[in-house]
Order: sequence, then C-alpha cells, then structure tokens
Amino acid sequence: MLDRREGEEEREVRDVLLVEDNLIDAQLIRRLLRRVSSSSYYRITHVRTLNDAVLSAEELTPHVILADLNLPDSRGTETVASLQTSYPDVPLVIVSSWEDEAISLRSVKAGAQDYLVKGHIDGANLHRVIRYAIERKRTELELVRLAHYDQLTSLPNRTLLRERVDHALARAMRAGSGVATLILDMDRFKEINDMLGHEIGDKLLVEAAQRIRDSVREQDTVARLGGDEFAVILEGVSEAREVLPVIERIIDSLNEVTTIDGHEVNSSTSVGIAMYPENGNDLSELLRAADLAMYQAKSSGRGRYQFFADAMQEEAQSRHALEWALRRAVEKNEFELVYQPQVCLRTGMVIGVEALLRWMSPTRGLLTPYHFIAGLEEFGLINEVGEWVLQTACEQIRKWHAMDLEPMRIGVNVSAQQFEDPMLIDKIRGALKDTKIPPELLELELTESCLMFDPGQAGALLREIRDVGVRIAIDDFGTGYSSLTYLNEFPLNALKIDKNFVQSVESTDRGGPISNMIIGLGQNLGLEVIAEGVETEAQLSYMREHGCDIAQGYLYARPASPEDLTPWLQANQRIPETYIRSIPIKTHGDETGT
Ligand code: C2E
Ligand code: CA
Ligand code: CA
Repeated sequence: MLDRREGEEEREVRDVLLVEDNLIDAQLIRRLLRRVSSSSYYRITHVRTLNDAVLSAEELTPHVILADLNLPDSRGTETVASLQTSYPDVPLVIVSSWEDEAISLRSVKAGAQDYLVKGHIDGANLHRVIRYAIERKRTELELVRLAHYDQLTSLPNRTLLRERVDHALARAMRAGSGVATLILDMDRFKEINDMLGHEIGDKLLVEAAQRIRDSVREQDTVARLGGDEFAVILEGVSEAREVLPVIERIIDSLNEVTTIDGHEVNSSTSVGIAMYPENGNDLSELLRAADLAMYQAKSSGRGRYQFFADAMQEEAQSRHALEWALRRAVEKNEFELVYQPQVCLRTGMVIGVEALLRWMSPTRGLLTPYHFIAGLEEFGLINEVGEWVLQTACEQIRKWHAMDLEPMRIGVNVSAQQFEDPMLIDKIRGALKDTKIPPELLELELTESCLMFDPGQAGALLREIRDVGVRIAIDDFGTGYSSLTYLNEFPLNALKIDKNFVQSVESTDRGGPISNMIIGLGQNLGLEVIAEGVETEAQLSYMREHGCDIAQGYLYARPASPEDLTPWLQANQRIPETYIRSIPIKTHGDETGT
C-alpha cells in the first residue's frame, strides 16, 4: 500500500494491530516501529485485550498482528487460536515476555508466523520479522488456495468440498435438517473439447462454473470435482422438492447457448441429486448416490435431473457386471453379425444387406444391440467393435460375391461415437483394402443426430468418405432434427425411413404423411429412399405406390446369420414383384430378449 505524505517520498504503509496489555511494552514497540525503515512506515492500532482485538476484526484489515500471548482475557495458545479465527488471512507475530521457547514454538505450530521475545527486540530485528511473517503468510495462503481451489474455475476442489460438507452435515445433524448434494456433468463435453479445442473447452468450463455460481445462493457451495463435473451443496433443505427451483435454474442457465471466441457452443448438463440423511451419511456416500442418479438422468435424455432412488444401487452393480462382461466379449470375440436383405421395389432384386450386430453372451444367450450398444459406447469399446464389424461385413460380402451371387451392397451402422473416431476413415480404407470390395458396395448408415451435432465438421468427414467412394445413408430418418440446408450440402446417397413411420402408414397416424414427405425429399435431392421394418403387405404396397425405392423388413426376411441367409439369397435373389413372401429362415440370429 503506498501513501504519499507531504515532503516525503512514497513510502509503504503497513497497518499493524498491536495487542498488548502492558503499556510500557506497547510504548517500546511503537518506538521501535517508528524508527525502523526509510522505505516504509507503520500505522499502529493498539488494543489491550483479546476481546477488543476480536471486535476490531469488523473494521480492520491489518497487514500484521503483533500480540502478547498473555492478555487479561486470554492466555497462551488460546490467544493464537482466537486471533486466527478472527483474522484468518493476517500474519501473526507473538510477542512474549516469557523467556519460554516452548510456548512460543507451540504458538508457531498453532499457526503464528513467528515470535519475538521481549527484551531481545531491536528495530531491525522487528522489521525483518514482520516482513518475513507477511511473506510467509502470503505463501501459506497461496498454498492453501492451491490445495483447495481449482485453478481453472477458481471454484473449491474436492478437498475443500469435503471440509465444507463435513461442516454442513454436522450443522444439519444438529438442526435436524437436510442437505442436498448435486452432481452436475456436462453432456458431450468431450466432443466439444475434441472438436473445438481445449482452449474453448476450458472457457466453456469457466463459463459453466460462473453460471452455476450465479444460480445458487451465496452460502451454497459450488465445487469442481474434475473434468466437466461439478458439485453443488444446498443446506437447510427439509424436503427434496424444495431444491427443484434451484436445480431448474441451474439446468436452464447451462442449457443456454454460450458464445466463445465467435463459436456458438450448445451444451447441456445432466444433474443427479442425493439427499442427506436419506441417501447417505457422508460425502462419499452422497457423491456415489448422486453420481448414480446423474447417470440415470443422462441415459433418460440429456439436460435433465434425477433424484437418487435405492433401485439405482442394484443397477450400478449390474452395470459393473456388464462392463466386465463386455470387455471379456471384446477380448474373446463373442460378437456376431447377422444380415438382413434389402429389396429393390422396382426390380425385385436383393440389392444389398444390412449388417446387424449380435452378442453371443455365455450367460445370457444371443443379445440384440439394445442390450449392449450403449454399454460399448459408455465403456469406450465401440470403436474397436465397430472396426471388427466393418472388416467382417466387408469380408462376408466378398464371400457372397465369390459364390456367384449378384453384387450386393453391405450396409454398416456407425454410431455417433464411431463417427467421431479420428481413425474412422483409415478403418474404412483398411477394410476395403483387405477385402478388395469396390467402395461403392459399402454403405455407412449414420443417424441425423450424429451429423447435426457439428454439421461443419460432419460435412468435412462425409466428403472424405465420399472421396473414398463409400456410400452414405441417413438412418432412422425423421426421428432426429436434420436441417434441410445441411441435407442438401452433405454428400448423401440414401435416406432410411424409420420403422416407426413405416409401421404406422396403415393407421390414421402421421406415419403416412411423414413417409411421403421423406420419399418426396429423397426424390428432390436425388437420394435413394429405403423403408425399414416392413412387416406387412399393406406397408409394402404403400411404400411401392408412393415411390419408395427399397424395402427391408421381416416381411422379406429377419436378420440371419450367413449360413442361414446364403441359401435364402441363392433362392430369392430376384423376388418377383407380384410374389412377395416372407421365407422363414431357421435362425439363431433372431430377436432374443427384445
Ligand atoms: P437400425 O439401424 O434401425 O436397425 C434396424 C433394426 O430394426 C434392427 O434391430 C432390425 O433387426 C430391426 N428390424 C428389421 N426389420 C424389422 C421389422 O420388420 N420389424 C421390426 N420390428 N424390426 C425390424 P437390431 O438388430 O436390434 O438393431 C438395433 C439397432 O442397433 C440398429 O437399429 C442400429 O442402430 C444398432 N446397430 C446394429 N448393429 C450395429 C453395429 O454393428 N454398429 C452400431 N454402431 N450399431 C448397430
Ligand atoms: Ca441401420
Ligand atoms: Ca431404425
């Protein structure tokens, strides 16, 4: 702090709080402080009791406190403790008349920065001790900050959260009230980070931290648990529904678009909530419960919240088991592909097959993707399995070609996570190279949501795929949110009408109009339209009459293993337009468990 006095150079002012009941000693210290330095001077506030010192804390922020240990109203380390509580950020130097090293040392252990022994103090010595005490305290505070706060967002970290929660739970126990623990996890943060870079990712986290802070009360704790995970502790809650408005405020504020360095970043956040004392007795239990609830919130759609329920505990155990089983499945290659024919509605030719993944689980039998695809994604296994699917499917098509069947395309499903795999394009090239099938026989099926997350980026990757010569179809078309502008710009080859629309064309539902619209769109954009999930003759004739190009569904054939499908293909490569029948295939590649 610099202060200019008339006729003097700029001198640093140091405010000193002197706590000393002995007036003679106080006088001595004053005198010494007056003389010590030409570059700084001391502004002294003198009080004679601990009580006065404590009361002054309201209006004083001294640079240093010099305190006698033994005061009329306090003795020894008690004095140290009280002063520290009242002035947590101020360095403390003990001035003791006792020639007793022990108690002074104990004071330093208890948090004082240094001590002076009366009768052995001179000006230079005093000045130096003060300077070092200030320096030491600053370092200490910095270390405390480093140990307790997250560097990026300046929010409390896990360590400080633990301390705060311990206190909050103790208070709640005394008051007989509750505490809500929230875990917030940003949805798709990793994708944003990978796509837009860490710098923008970091800025998004800082912005999110601020928004969470702004959505809660001053006294509530907001902490960063690491990565894109935050925790919020709400005290004085007697019922879970009291925290709903706060949760909604947080979620809404985090769902708003953020503009960072000119990028509009859309993100949302899922929240899990655990209540003390119902769901746990300490921070670890509460965080675990909130975490389970958060995962539940994520899987029921993003940007939502979920309170913990006991059933989640069991589910977590089964999730663990699933992870273990899936890792094993990848290792032991327990996956299989089944294939479903696609029939051209003009010529009756089987123009392709779609590869569909199955898991032959040693304990649960043959499973459809519904039971494990989300798990593969969650546990980071989908890319590895996806590569195997590409290779195996291409290999199978090569085998069929070698059998003198008419050339057929192979459709391979690619999930959003696979689409973001930077190695995807190499894996595609690899599969084509290894199996030597012409690239135009491979058709990747992508969903709208995986293209629309970052259309710019998606477009670039699609063009790369197109340059390799591979076809691109949009799967489940009509269930996501495609922007027609992008549809026009993407290098696409086909649209697949989702089976829900196909199957509702007969009823008075919206299925008919939506299917017509998709067919019309395909015609306008020059794209093939494939109806999936065709089960009845009525659905088939609707599709044919409205100009749909290709159909696939149980009506023709259920997905089947190569062994089962080969004879079918040999017999039915050309299906007479007037004679459409479903030929039952004895399968093991069927809809187990769905
Ligand atoms: P999808 O791409 O929409 O696949 C069509 C689903 O409809 C398949 O379910 C298929 O068996 C089923 N289906 C076909 N015809 C009919 C029908 O006439 N009626 C009815 N009700 N259903 C029919 P499946 O095999 O259970 O696959 C489910 C989803 O799993 C697929 O939906 C796809 O999104 C995903 N999937 C399948 N294989 C793979 C894969 O290798 N990789 C990835 N990433 N996802 C896959
Ligand atoms: Ca598909
Ligand atoms: Ca579908």
